Amino acid sequence: MKAALIALLAALTCTFTTARAEWIERVEDGIMGTRIVVELWADNREQGDAAVAAVLDEMRRVDQDMSTYKPTSEVSRVNAAAAQGAVKVTPELFELLTDALEYSRITDGAFDITYASVGYMYDFRRHVRPDEAQIEKALPAIDYRHVLLDPKARTVKFSQPGVRIDLGGIGKGHAVDQGIKILQARGIQHALVTAGGDSRIIGDRFGKPWVVGIRHPDRKEEVIARIPLEDAAISTSGDYERYFDENGVRYHHIIDPHTGQSARKVRSATIIGPTATRTDGLSKTAFVLGAERAIEIYNRLEGIDAIVVTPDGRVLYTKGLEAPSPPK
Ligand code: ADP
Ligand code: MG
Repeated sequence: MKAALIALLAALTCTFTTARAEWIERVEDGIMGTRIVVELWADNREQGDAAVAAVLDEMRRVDQDMSTYKPTSEVSRVNAAAAQGAVKVTPELFELLTDALEYSRITDGAFDITYASVGYMYDFRRHVRPDEAQIEKALPAIDYRHVLLDPKARTVKFSQPGVRIDLGGIGKGHAVDQGIKILQARGIQHALVTAGGDSRIIGDRFGKPWVVGIRHPDRKEEVIARIPLEDAAISTSGDYERYFDENGVRYHHIIDPHTGQSARKVRSATIIGPTATRTDGLSKTAFVLGAERAIEIYNRLEGIDAIVVTPDGRVLYTKGLEAPSPPK
């Protein structure tokens, strides 16, 4: 009798431990060439692990379809054929291209996926950059107005040869939004999904906000501001992410569409907004237009806030944001 009771108790304890709600955290390196973090509150570990796995699978899928490093991706297919004629694309890519052109319009052309017409000649890992003559030759192909979308036929066409697109400026944001969609469909109510500099958050951490830090442009371990967030997206772009220095000049991965050179007007820009695709799409603007002009644009946009760090070390905020408390 006593033995049976102990066995029953043991079985119950066991059920309770496997069914306990808990925080699940997973860090995965390599997808989209960056670090993915998924953190969520799940009813039990099994459900949480399955949700994390689904998010990671989706990120791999987005990478396969959108990366220009993969010759078989849908975007590579567009680059190979859209100057010759209209190319039919998936609803997902069509929507992303539509968003991309919208971000070009609202940023006075600072965000421009055709930056790649020159951008493809840079290889920051191998310290390779185009020379003046190469830039001059390819520069006319940079203009988002060269990308012609037909919503009825769901096709994309380039108005001239030499045009290339790259969705690197919104791809991670989009992947994060896709991950969040998956978690929401599974009923997850507290989560953080991060891909490199792009994050989105569902809910809070039980009465406390999530806190996302913005790093110092030169000192990796130093945080210049901590931003409390709930149900929001946040993206940071920095000139310290992918770069090489040559004769005191920094060549980095954000390209000014007007010059084909790295855009050097700010050191970092952090955007807070409703979706990660949008915050990602807006975080390049300040590098091209400069802090003051970019802040003016951000101030005009519904639901957008920003923190910009200038080359001389000033930190500028949009009007909706009170200066965050300094780090402890
Ligand atoms: P991450 O790639 O880590 O998300 P960012 O969000 O700062 O970094 O985006 C930088 C990427 O955006 C570049 O690697 C490039 O693919 C793309 N890009 C560079 N310049 C522009 C631009 N002017 N407009 C749109 N996309 C750009
Ligand atoms: Mg990004």
